[in-house]
Amino acid sequence: MLLTPQQARALYEHAAQHRYAVLAVNADSPTAVVDCLMAAQVCDAPIIIETSLWQLTAHSFGAGDPMLGIDLYLAQLRALAASERFRDVPVVYHTDHIKGSATVHILTHAMRRKASSLSLDSSAMSAEENIATMIRLGEIAMQEGLSLTLEMEAGVDDGITPLEETRTLFGRVEQRMPGHLALWAPGVGTKHGLGNALDGFSPAAIRAHQELASELAGRPIGIALHGSSGLNVNQLQDGVAAGVVKVNWSSESLLIRSAAAAAYFDGNRERLEPKHPDFKISAMDDGLQRSISSVYVPKVKARIEALGGGGRASDFRQNLDSLS
Ligand SMILES: [Zn+2]
Repeated sequence: MLLTPQQARALYEHAAQHRYAVLAVNADSPTAVVDCLMAAQVCDAPIIIETSLWQLTAHSFGAGDPMLGIDLYLAQLRALAASERFRDVPVVYHTDHIKGSATVHILTHAMRRKASSLSLDSSAMSAEENIATMIRLGEIAMQEGLSLTLEMEAGVDDGITPLEETRTLFGRVEQRMPGHLALWAPGVGTKHGLGNALDGFSPAAIRAHQELASELAGRPIGIALHGSSGLNVNQLQDGVAAGVVKVNWSSESLLIRSAAAAAYFDGNRERLEPKHPDFKISAMDDGLQRSISSVYVPKVKARIEALGGGGRASDFRQNLDSLS
């Protein structure tokens, strides 16, 4: 089931109340999306599938056009999430790092197409621009009668965000536009990409930000963790215990898939010769994708379980039923 913005907000609150985190994967191909849903289904876990601008404009989706990218990505995800196999999996479609002059335009399109939750990349914005853009999205939602569930971020790659910024950024948006914010993503000592020293990772900062954001909003607000790829299982679990409810996962996921693809081609050199009797079966995309899937799905499952997501889908669905 693809979650509406209201249902996505309920999921983030469910995770905050029950102290687990939902894995958010930057799935960058149609088969990566299928693999993530397979892993979530086996674990009885909710899952977030998210797209940054680079995925929306990628060759597999928008081929240069981010709006077309949203349409194609969502069409596939919506069909999969409604299928018999995956209809019990709570699936969030989230816009991740969207940046540049078209940001509001792209996110308005995502809202109109009923994306479950939205965020943007504020790394090149001033604090005032970040606040103004969040409020602009709220105004558009109100004008058009759309529902909106938001993640707001601040300097996720810039070390520990001072608590004061939770007041000046998150607090001001909540004050001007109450009720739309569901996630807060301050810097907590992680960095996007692989090979970073992550000894500055601070569960104490996560806890302090989580408590202050929840106090400012008057409801449970979970922390969204960016740059999780280099963290070990213990660090991830400490983060979840401190209030992380959404763990973004991109670089390590890409590494697992690309290494599996390389191994497939290395192991099938002979079969990929035109005269080999297995040429066709070996050259078809399906063989490559199944081979990647067999390596990737167990890793996604392990990540979901490490975050405490296993078994949460059933409980969350019951929760939704009692709300409706
Ligand atoms: Zn990020």
